Amino acid sequence: MEFSAIKTRFAPSPTGLLHLGNVRTALFNYLLSANLGGQFLLRLEDTDAVRGDDKYAEALQVDLRWLGLNWHEGPGVGGEHGPYAQSERSGIYTDYFNQLIETGDAYPCFCSEHELKLSRKAQAAAGKPPRYSGKCRGLSPDEVVSYFAEGKPATLRFRVPADRTIEFDDRVRGPQRFASDDIGDFIIRRSDHTPAFFFSNAVDDALMKVTLVVRGEDHITNTPRQLMLLDSLGLAPPQYAHIALVVGQDGAPLSKRNGSQTVQELRERGYLPEAVINYLARLGHTYESNDFLAPAALASQFDVARLNRAPARFDLKQLLHWQREAVARADDDTLWKWMNSVAIADTHVSTLVPANKSTSFVQAIRENIETPADAFLWAANLFTDSGVYDHSAREAIQAAGPEFFQQARALMADASEFRDYSKKLAEMTGNKGKALFMPLRAAISGEHDQRHAVESRWHDGPQMGSLWQLLDSAMIRRRLELAHAIASES
Ligand code: GLU
Repeated sequence: MEFSAIKTRFAPSPTGLLHLGNVRTALFNYLLSANLGGQFLLRLEDTDAVRGDDKYAEALQVDLRWLGLNWHEGPGVGGEHGPYAQSERSGIYTDYFNQLIETGDAYPCFCSEHELKLSRKAQAAAGKPPRYSGKCRGLSPDEVVSYFAEGKPATLRFRVPADRTIEFDDRVRGPQRFASDDIGDFIIRRSDHTPAFFFSNAVDDALMKVTLVVRGEDHITNTPRQLMLLDSLGLAPPQYAHIALVVGQDGAPLSKRNGSQTVQELRERGYLPEAVINYLARLGHTYESNDFLAPAALASQFDVARLNRAPARFDLKQLLHWQREAVARADDDTLWKWMNSVAIADTHVSTLVPANKSTSFVQAIRENIETPADAFLWAANLFTDSGVYDHSAREAIQAAGPEFFQQARALMADASEFRDYSKKLAEMTGNKGKALFMPLRAAISGEHDQRHAVESRWHDGPQMGSLWQLLDSAMIRRRLELAHAIASES
C-alpha cells in the first residue's frame, strides 16, 4: 500500500521579528502535520541579502521553540533535504536555472528598472494590469551574446506558456482557475544572481518534498506562477491552503499600529506559550471545544476543513482569556518561576516574598493574576507597606470606621483560624457579609482594584483565609493598625 505522509513547512523571510500573524501560519502548519503524524519543516528564505539578517533568523527559531513548534527538518536540526537556508542553496538553484535556459523556458531580460517602470506606467494609464511587455522574449542568440559582452545586467525570466489554464484545488478556498495569458513572464533570478521568491520557494517545496503549503491568501496569485514553473521543471507540486489574513479591530491587516505584538514581546510580558497557541489556533480556525486544549489535543482536533475563509480579527481580550486559562492550569512551581522570570522596576517577586512563603503566596494569588506584573503588585502590596492602600481600599476602610478596627485589633490577641476570627469579629461589631469582609480585606491586602488588569474578573481578590495564612500575625496586626489610623482620619 502506498502511503505518503503529510509534510508541511514554515518558510519565513527573516527580515524582522515574528509577530502574531506570521507565527499563526507556522502554528497551523505545525498542527496539521502533528495531527496526521507527519513532518514539519522550517526553511529560511533569506535570499534577499540586503534585508535579511542573521539575528532575525536566530530570533524566529527561539520564538518557535518557545511555543513548542519544533521542526523535524530544518536549521539546527538537519535533514536529508538540506541545507535549509536558501542563502546556502545557490548551487542547487543554478542547476534548475540551467535546465530552464536549456529548454527555452527561461530567457535573459536586459530591461532596466527605468524601462520597466515606464512600461508599468503606460499600462496603468491604459487601464491595464501591470505585466511584463515581453520585450526581451524574442531576442536572438546573437543579441543576447552581444548584450552580455557589453556587460549589461540581466535578470532571468520564466517564459509563461500561452493559452493555458492553471487549475488547482485550494484546500481552504476551493477550486481555483487562472489563465496563463493574464500572467506576464516573471523574474526568477535577479540581476545579482540571487533567486527570486517565485522560484526558490517553489523549487524548495518540491525538493524538500513538502506535501501541503499553508500560507497567507496574499500568496494565492503567486501559486499559478509557481505551478507553471514546477511543471516546466518536472517537479511535483505540493497542495495549497491559502488562509485568510489576520486583521486588527479596525479591519485593517494586523500591524503594530492596530495591536499586533511580536512573539518576543508576548514572552517578555509573561504570556505563557500554551495561552498563545490556544488563542492562535482559534484565530481563523474553529474547534468544537471552547476548552483550553493541550498541544496534542490542539493538533488532533485541527482540521483544514475548519479553517475560515473570512479574515480573522485579533482580539486582545481573547488572548487574555487563554492566558488566564493557562495560568490556572500551571502548577505552583511553574508559576513561581514564571512570575520571577520578568524583572519589574529592576526587582523580582522573590525579593519581596519571604523564601518560606513562596508556595503559599502563589496559592493565595494564582487566581488573581494574568501576568508576572500582577504577581509583582500583589507581592508589593502584601509584603511591603509602601503605597499599600489605594483609593478604593481607603474608602472601604473609612466606611467601616475606627471602632471596627479597634475591635479587629483587640481580637488579634487570640487570633487563630480566619474562620473563627471573622465569626467573633462579626459578633462583636454586628457587621456581616460585605460590611465585614470588605474593610478587612482592604486593610489586610490593600486590595487594589486590579487597575493593571485589562479585564478584571476578580474584584474580590484572593481568599481571605489564604491571606491570613500567608501573612504572619505581626504583619496582620500592623495592617490593622494602619487601617485604624486611616479610619480615624475622617
Ligand atoms: N518567505 C515567504 C514569506 O515569508 C514564504 C511564503 C510561503 O509560505 O510560501 O512570505
